[in-house]
Amino acid sequence: MTGKKEAFVPINPGEVRLYTCGPTVYDFAHVGNFRAYIFEDLLKRFLQFMGYKVVHIMNITDIDDKTIRGAKAQGVDLDTYTQKYIDAFFKDIDTLNILRADTFPRATEHIPEMVAIVKQLIQKGYAYKKDGSYYFSIAKFPAYGRLSKISLEELQPGQRVDADEYEKESVHDFALWKAKKEGEPFWETEIGPGRPGWHIECTAMSSKYLGETFDIHCGGVDNIFPHHENEIAQSEASSGKKFVNYWLHCHHLIRDGEKMSKSKGNTITIPDILRIKNNPAALRLLLLSTHYRKTMNFTFEALDQAETALNRINEFAGEVRYREFPEGETEAVGKIVKDAERKFRDGLSDDLNISVAVTAIFNLIKKVNVAIARENFKSQDAETVDLFIRSIKTVLGVIDPIKSETVRVGPLSEKLSVPSPRVIVADETEMPKITSQQKDKIERRQKARAEKDFGKADQIRAELAAEGILLEDTKDGVRWKAVPVPKKPE
Ligand SMILES: [Zn+2]
Repeated sequence: MTGKKEAFVPINPGEVRLYTCGPTVYDFAHVGNFRAYIFEDLLKRFLQFMGYKVVHIMNITDIDDKTIRGAKAQGVDLDTYTQKYIDAFFKDIDTLNILRADTFPRATEHIPEMVAIVKQLIQKGYAYKKDGSYYFSIAKFPAYGRLSKISLEELQPGQRVDADEYEKESVHDFALWKAKKEGEPFWETEIGPGRPGWHIECTAMSSKYLGETFDIHCGGVDNIFPHHENEIAQSEASSGKKFVNYWLHCHHLIRDGEKMSKSKGNTITIPDILRIKNNPAALRLLLLSTHYRKTMNFTFEALDQAETALNRINEFAGEVRYREFPEGETEAVGKIVKDAERKFRDGLSDDLNISVAVTAIFNLIKKVNVAIARENFKSQDAETVDLFIRSIKTVLGVIDPIKSETVRVGPLSEKLSVPSPRVIVADETEMPKITSQQKDKIERRQKARAEKDFGKADQIRAELAAEGILLEDTKDGVRWKAVPVPKKPE
């Protein structure tokens, strides 16, 4: 609301009451919608990490202009139409490891609560009736526009807008309750037959589950106007109290540098992405890693990079958890972990600065790897680092340690002094085994590299990659990793 960072003080000590606007279930949610849900999940998980109890409500808009239009076009009733999108939404949030809200109230199940608020607004003089519909009179609420910073100078009193969604240019009295229309679902109520406008549901459901004043309200920047502006007007006019103490809005996600839109045909859903690259954890990490107040550009290259980063974390986490280290503890590693913990916490405490938090993790990995290489890393250190990883996993929701073992592949030529490559085997899963022909190929590639025949070396690398053997040249020599050969997309 102030456009500034503010210190967070909850209404009830130790508790955060959080409302996030959920999906309008008229279509499959696209990756841009999930960027917002993941940002909200990061916020919630971090608040929990900091010791708060979070009460989280996310509404499901199962009646509005778009759902009604969609159901009509398909010739089915509204419930049948919205159910498949509701099911898909829950499937996707589970895939992305988004913690479920305490309640997902549905608009169609809260008609009496909405009617009660409209009645209050009528009684207090904020709402008026026109042709069987009820509208909120903006002129009666001078605080209108504080969140979106719109100008009310050109506002013409009494001009109305019936659509649920509209642009800032058309600031008008908006519909709280829409009169019964031929071919539309309706409810018989004390204020007449009809159905709710979109905005009233969030006022009704947030006050029901969180109280008339609560701590944090989130959504996408698209929600600021008119949706959240209207929520504030309805809520504060009816209750006479401040609606929300802190607003956080997530910026847009664009795809390959362009705005995603149905008309351009470049929207993409979570299942669409996973059909091309089946790594939900990497997708989650990618969607987390751009600060929520910055525009995020989704590309498959960026998803590849997120996967590489996540693999590095997972391999490191596996090494620390599963490898045996000599008994004891060092002072240096204790300090490295404390420093990383502080930076991780301070970064996220500062308006969810995720890059500071992620940098803290990679700095820890780098420093601990040096300690391991110098054999200055003991069993107690491994436990301390493992504990740190477990605690940050509760916030990031992605780390999955990979069990690895070092095997000697050889005999390799002494003259080339190639350190023994490592095989990384995922825990309990069937991984392809390296064959003796493949071992020969690695040797031949090393030889080609030593002879500076990089064309040949690259060709062998590509052949091995096609067979599921990935090579990585490190300063300590070549490492190889056996991975399942990806199936060609159909
Ligand atoms: Zn809402």
